[in-house]
This record gives sequence, C-alpha cells and structure tokens, in this order.
Amino acid sequence: MKIRNFSIVAHIDHGKTTLSDRILEDTGTVAKRKMTAQLLDGMELEKERGITIKAKAVRIKYKDYELNLIDTPGHVDFSYEVARSLRACEGVLLLVDASQGVEAQTVAHAHLAQSLGLKVIPVMNKVDLSQSDADLSEEQLWEILREPILAERVSAKTGMGVDHLLERIVTDIPEPKGNPNGKPRALIFDSFYDPFRGVIIYVRMFDGSLKQGQTLRLMGGGLTSKIEEIGYMTPQLVKCGGLNMGEVGYIVAGIKDIHSVKVGDTVTLADNTADEPLPGYEETKPVVFASIFPIDSPDYPLLRTALEKLNLSDSSFSYQSEVSKALGFGFRLGFMGLLHIEIVKERLEREFNLSLIATSPNVVYHVKFTSKKSHPQELSALRDAGDGYKVIDNPAYFPPYGDIIDIKEPTITITIVTPVEFMDGVMTLLKEKRGTYLEMEHISNMRVIIKYIMPMAEMVIDFYNKLKSVSKGYASFDYELDEYRSSDVVLMEILIHGEPVDALSVVTHKDKAQTQGRALCEKLKELIGRQMFEIAVQARVNGKIVARETIPAMRKDVIAKCYGGDITRKRKLLEKQKEGKKRMKSIGSVDIPQEAFVAMLKID
Ligand code: GDP
Repeated sequence: MKIRNFSIVAHIDHGKTTLSDRILEDTGTVAKRKMTAQLLDGMELEKERGITIKAKAVRIKYKDYELNLIDTPGHVDFSYEVARSLRACEGVLLLVDASQGVEAQTVAHAHLAQSLGLKVIPVMNKVDLSQSDADLSEEQLWEILREPILAERVSAKTGMGVDHLLERIVTDIPEPKGNPNGKPRALIFDSFYDPFRGVIIYVRMFDGSLKQGQTLRLMGGGLTSKIEEIGYMTPQLVKCGGLNMGEVGYIVAGIKDIHSVKVGDTVTLADNTADEPLPGYEETKPVVFASIFPIDSPDYPLLRTALEKLNLSDSSFSYQSEVSKALGFGFRLGFMGLLHIEIVKERLEREFNLSLIATSPNVVYHVKFTSKKSHPQELSALRDAGDGYKVIDNPAYFPPYGDIIDIKEPTITITIVTPVEFMDGVMTLLKEKRGTYLEMEHISNMRVIIKYIMPMAEMVIDFYNKLKSVSKGYASFDYELDEYRSSDVVLMEILIHGEPVDALSVVTHKDKAQTQGRALCEKLKELIGRQMFEIAVQARVNGKIVARETIPAMRKDVIAKCYGGDITRKRKLLEKQKEGKKRMKSIGSVDIPQEAFVAMLKID
C-alpha cells in the first residue's frame, strides 16, 4: 500500500467538515446513509459551536493508496494544536471559500504549512455559488504563498471536482519517508480518554513499527506500558496487529491518566529505544486564567469531583483550589485560550448540574517585587518565571503596589485580514488595544493583511466583538503567542460598601485605569441594583480611589406597594426574588449577581 498523509486546513466555515465528509463518502469509507451526522466533529458542544476541538484521523482506501486524513481544530485559540496535527502529515489541502476569499486563518495556516515544509494544495471551495470568484481568491492565495500554485476547484456540497482533487492528492503529496526497519518512532498527535480502556493515543509512525504485546516507552514523559491494542481509524477504531513506518493509527496501553500522555511526545519501545525523539515537542502552558465558585458553597465538593472527572478526559485545562475572601472556596482554572473557558464552564453546569460563578479571565503576569509588606499569597507558593520574576496568574495575588519593581505581560502577534475599507477602523482599534504596528500587505487591491504586536490581555477583554463591529463582521484574525514584555500595568481593586472584593479585582494598563474604573463602577451600579441601603462602588488603583458610584437605597414605597396587593402577586414577587438569588452571592450584606464578576468584559 502506498501511503499519503494529509490535513485539510481552512478558515472557519470555509467548508472543511463538508469536504472531509464528501471525501469519506466518495471513497466509500463511510456509507452515505451514515453521513447524517458530520463525522469528524465529536462532542455535542463542539457541534453546537461548529468547531472541532480535538484532532482526529481517518484511514481512507483510495485505489491502491492508503490515505490518512488528519483533522485539525478550526478555532483561533487552538493554533498550537493545528501545528501538532500538521507535523503528522506530508501535505495539506488549503481550503478557501471562493465566495469569501482569503481570511486570517487562511494566512496563518498557509504560512504554518510552508514553514513545516509541507506540500500545499490550494483548494477553492463553494464554486457552485454564483457569488464565488475562484480566480480572485486564487490570486489572493498566490500572493500569500508567494508562488503561483494551481488551485483545485471544488464544491464540497455537490461533490464537483472532488474526484480530481483525490487524484491530485496522490500525485502531489509525497509518500512518507523514514526507516521502515529502524528503532520505532511514532509522533503522538492527539489522545483521548475512554472510560473503559483508558487513554487512546493517536500516532503517526515515522520510523520502524509497533506491534501489539510490545512494551512502549514515551520518550518525553518516560512512562512505559504494554501495548494492549493497536489499530487504525475508519473512523471507528479497527484493531490490527501493528503499525508500520508512515502509517497513522491508535494505541491502547492501559494508561489511566491522560496527563501522562503529552501530544507531541514520541512513542518508542522500552527494549529498542530510539536515539532521539521526533522534533516539535513543546510543553504547552495555560495562558488565560479564571476562577469558578459554586453559587451554593456546600456544592464545593461536587465541583471538585466534576473538575476531576472533566479533566480526566480533557487535559487542555488545569485547575487548582483557591480561596477567595469574597466568594469562599473555588478553583482557579488555566486555559489555552478564551473559548475554552466558556466550554468548560458550560460543561460543568450542564453535565454536572452545578450553578457557578466565573470571574473575568486574565492573562499570566511575571512580576518582580521586594517583599517588605505582607503579601496576599505565600511567596513560596508562587512559581519562578526566571530573572527574579514570579508567575502571578491571579489578580487577587498581586503584591502590594509599593513593593512592585516591574511587571511583564504576555504579548501576541496578531494577524488580521480585512477589506481595505475597514482598514482605518481596524487600525484605530489596534491602537486603542495598545498594539504596535509590524507590517501590512495588500492582497488583490481589495484586502489587506495587517500584523501587530499586542498585549494578550487586550485580546482577552472583548477584542473579538469590537473587531467585528468596526469591520461590519468582515475582518478575521488569528494570533500566536509572542513573549513577555515589561509594561505599566496596575491592579485595580473594586470596593463594594467600603470592602475590597478580591474576585472583582482586575489588571489594567495605567493609562486606561481611570476610564475603565469609571465604566466598571457604572456597570456594577447597574448590575448590582438597589438594595435596602445605600451602597458605594469604588475603584482603587495604587491606594487611590479613581472612580466612584453610589447605588441609592431602594425607595420605601416600592416595597410598601407589594404589601398592599393581593397574595398571589406577593408570592410571585417572592418567587422571583428567590430565582434571582440563585445567581447571586452575598458579600457582606450586599447581594452581587453573577454578571458583576464578568463586568469587565461588558464595558465599552
Ligand atoms: P467548516 O467550519 O470549515 O468545517 O465549514 P463547514 O463544512 O461546516 O461548512 C460551513 C457552511 O458552508 C455549511 O453551511 C456548509 O453547508 C456550507 N458549505 C460547505 N461547502 C460548500 C459548498 O461547496 N457549497 C456551498 N454552497 N456551501 C458549502
């Protein structure tokens, strides 16, 4: 069998899922009637959001070829996972919706594929649509790839052009190269947890072979374990005796802890260990953090169990217990990107029936400080970031302002593709977001690619919505982590009724603190609403109050009115209040609704 390993990469909604399904159907890999559900998309939640979080793979028989289609996640937060999947391939189909043209993820994927030395086959999709302009889209792509490569033209929907594309895959994409008899080396490009069989590891063989019954060794992680089962995906798991050089498949080795299997690690044998691991193994660290607390404090043990269970199957987030003065016992969660926060919170609430409060997400800071004053967090509990800096991933643990010598924040390189008419608006937004201009490139005189360096924190707070609004929805973006840079950021504390509420603290830039403090206080005033007594809402930076709002006490007659009315109205009101309570947390004597804790995300 001749082998071809490839991925399809595309900007979201450009038709990757439809084309994958079409290829599986046309090659008879999957029967037509089974295609009702889009196969490469797994979990229910993913489907609802139209994204694929976990990369998977399918073996396709085409003529006398064995094609392995390796799926990649489609959301910007997962660009690191795309790179991992692409390392398992020799080629990619770079798919572009010809009615839309090149978008930010197209650019990012194209450059990534080229930098990995992969064969790129451009594919113009949706040519069945009358508004499609495959010539224009192809021209845009040539400018990005910096070479004219003839594109395939297909309609994933009608199937037009797909036969030709399959031929192109086997002629253009090189066959895997490696030593079939060498010491085995297989790249782990994904893994998932099966409650019955333990961790299922997805691999691409680069050298040698692996067989059932042998004892594997993970070169980075060090773990050794007997291979209980080995096989390939159709997409169902199909057992076979072993996997040879170039092949893609799965391994079951009775591993119970998903954290001991790291994507990017190399599988070899315990008694025939390879000399060097495969390149590309990078430990990924969470970059965005948020806390969650049960609305009902007695639910804390339930939340712990839920997190343990969820983390068993989803290793892309980390968690650690946390105690907040305001919200009590909860957990600090670390994520790879923004979208994941929502998914994890939703799954916890939905699958484990929990009511949770989540705080505004923030990035990780590296802080250098003296320790003259008393600190909110045990110094020994803080990890080292090198050069005398400590890792601080929670605003509640910021050292007192007088002690701080320097703060570094993470930056990203952001790529934006926008129609030229929105360029000014986009650039103004990037400037507001503390961006630094890097470069710009016009493609096909209607579109422009803009690159900036920007603090990651600015992306975390409402970047996506603003970008959409300044570009009427036409601009798209992709980002990559850059490095930690010194920055004038400050901790802004929020005081409710004179008491600082740790879970409401946010980190912001010094120059923005006052404006944001005002907006935040206004928003909080609105969200908290009137209660039985007057409440002050204040923002404090470096010991100084920078903004204040007063929530007046509820007027007496509002309450009085209720007592006069009939009994059902009164009962209704009481029930309404009870419902409202569910999503409230009492801090001191003030009831604060859940929305208040993410108010930072909602200010303009
Ligand atoms: P993905 O996000 O890249 O996986 O995109 P999907 O495969 O989910 O496709 C996004 C939308 O485009 C869906 O509504 C598809 O039905 C539609 N679509 C995909 N391919 C074609 C095509 O060739 N022609 C037309 N007209 N629509 C398509």
